[in-house]
Amino acid sequence: MAVAQQISETNPWHTAQHQFDEAADMLKLDPGLRVILREVQREFTCHFPVQMDDGSVRCYTGYRVQHNINRGPAKGGLRFHPDVSLDEVKALAMWMTWKCAVVNIPYGGAKGGVIVDPRKLSPSELEHLTRRFATEISILVGPDRDIPAPDVGTNAQVMAWFMDTISMHKGYSVPATVTGKPVEVGGSLGRTDATGRGVMICTLAALEHLGLKPFGAKVVVQGFGNVGSVSARLLEEAGCTVIAVSEDYGGIYNPHGLPIRKLIEHRAREGTLKDFPGIEVISNDDLLRLECDVLVPAALENQITSRNAGEIRAKLIVEGANGPTTPGGDEILHRRKIFLVPDILANAGGVTVSYFEWVQDLQSFFWSEHEINQRLETIMQRSFREVLAIMKEKQVDLRLAAYLLAVRRVSEATAERGIYP
Ligand code: GLU
Repeated sequence: MAVAQQISETNPWHTAQHQFDEAADMLKLDPGLRVILREVQREFTCHFPVQMDDGSVRCYTGYRVQHNINRGPAKGGLRFHPDVSLDEVKALAMWMTWKCAVVNIPYGGAKGGVIVDPRKLSPSELEHLTRRFATEISILVGPDRDIPAPDVGTNAQVMAWFMDTISMHKGYSVPATVTGKPVEVGGSLGRTDATGRGVMICTLAALEHLGLKPFGAKVVVQGFGNVGSVSARLLEEAGCTVIAVSEDYGGIYNPHGLPIRKLIEHRAREGTLKDFPGIEVISNDDLLRLECDVLVPAALENQITSRNAGEIRAKLIVEGANGPTTPGGDEILHRRKIFLVPDILANAGGVTVSYFEWVQDLQSFFWSEHEINQRLETIMQRSFREVLAIMKEKQVDLRLAAYLLAVRRVSEATAERGIYP
């Protein structure tokens, strides 16, 4: 007897499949295409040893998943986090497929991860783990096959080690192997800020749609990693007042506004925001419930759920993170008419500049930062307009509109290529 799948609100893979199903239903997607796109194409698991500084050996588990590669090579980041699981990586890979399709860049979707807390490793242990994981997944990656990038818990340095490892195996440098590298080794100008810049562009476009002005708009940002801190800084530069930001223990709050640049400097120096003068420390739950114009969840999945969506007091939510809202949360927000810019549009600035980096590496011809930011802005604004038009035409929320666009593009490519053999 078949056992019914236990659907869990906080399992990201169930969320991703639910979101896809809604779009597939509305598009009346061919049943054959539906079974193809509802599953990932490849999922790879490895268990590998790393020698610690004290000489002991630990075994780590890592994954690389490719959801769909019909529109181009697989693309997506590598996450180093203790809560990584295969279901999470599968969801993140599927979301990458839709994200690349929403902004219409020629990539399929992938994601990778290792179950590890990188903050508990020394720099040399982190390097050894990265180089061994790169070797384990090297059978999948390459500039025309699958191109990793940074995600939660990884950064430009990790990408440099990754690129060096693959290049050492080849015997020559292959910079287009990964994106998000340091500029000195073939990285792109503007890549570090790209996801936050895309969040800022989407926020301004959404505020305009809602008839609100950026000047003085109150913004709350959950997460102060690469996406959260850059989003906060660029929104402040655009005239908004950022009243709260958070780290994993909770948040800091000042109703009159926080000095974001100083917070970024403080955090780089002290490693935390907690002891910054003139602020109030609040819990993560309270941060999400603050009254504000814009809420930017830029941390992890499952932050806005059926449990707390009724208490959100933002007019606009812009998803800097992947999967911060569950379908249960979405339903409540939609009913409460809170406007939400979904992850697959809002945080697509990162992979868009990753695409620019890859193109520059393949041509060994590099662009100015101004050129990169301009091209990014053009793509983000065009994508926002396209999704908004679908929202109006079909009378759906912006997430479903983005899915309708993405699933249509990917299913057309999949159908046109046909089923091999
Ligand atoms: N990890 C980022 C994301 O979730 C960037 C992926 C990439 O640049 O390939 O979009």
